[in-house]
Amino acid sequence: MKQKLIAGNWKMNGSLAANEALVHGVQQGLAQALGGKHAQVAVCVPAAYLSQVQQLVKGSGIDLGSQDVSAHEQGAYTGEISAAMLKDFAVRYAIVGHSERRQYHGETDEQVAHKAQHALSAGITPIVCVGETLAEREAGKTEEVVKRQLAAVIHTNGHCISEIVVAYEPVWAIGTGKTASPEQAQAVHAVLRAQLKAATEHSERVHILYGGSMNAANATELLAQPDIDGGLIGGAALKPADFLTIIAAAA
Ligand code: 13P
Repeated sequence: MKQKLIAGNWKMNGSLAANEALVHGVQQGLAQALGGKHAQVAVCVPAAYLSQVQQLVKGSGIDLGSQDVSAHEQGAYTGEISAAMLKDFAVRYAIVGHSERRQYHGETDEQVAHKAQHALSAGITPIVCVGETLAEREAGKTEEVVKRQLAAVIHTNGHCISEIVVAYEPVWAIGTGKTASPEQAQAVHAVLRAQLKAATEHSERVHILYGGSMNAANATELLAQPDIDGGLIGGAALKPADFLTIIAAAA
């Protein structure tokens, strides 16, 4: 069975001092949390701190991730950061299509697909976020929405689709303390797995993470679901003890 992946998404939080304390705290407890078992661990940090955190995580077994990547290769795109630039800082993962970017920056399924494409061509694993809003869930559209979001990425990245990570993040569960139940999450993960299976014979290789108020108290039962291969953690990734408890649950 593949190792689970626990990725922290720090969002727009941190400072030089806070980042150092957080990474050191996680590093100090990591071996104990893993208890001789294995899980992949990453932190997706604000772009301004990539260089700092690259140095902090060196040799620790914690991988570095970004929270976004440009849908363009280079050129006149003020404020954007290309996949090649991220690669210069040993970035292994790039979150693409987070609901906060879809919502506040109007990112479309097509742009998200191109972001994934640029990440992949630079050798960076895109963490492709999909998820429905509360209104969409209540209208019975969950499956339709997540399939549409993933389909765009599959369409653009067909042959290397087994190289992506997918994160199912129901929008109504993000930062609300309202987690999807293990059954609700598993049901959507199974839909996404089936969609990947139709696109690649290597669908089992793809990590499908759950994100949305995953915390130290609920991680174990979420991670016990057959198609939940890890977590994308917001708030709880900012506290070393909570993040380590989630890692321990994944190992
Ligand atoms: P919370 O864990 O704070 O709900 O955030 C989840 C998320 O959006 C991770 O990308």
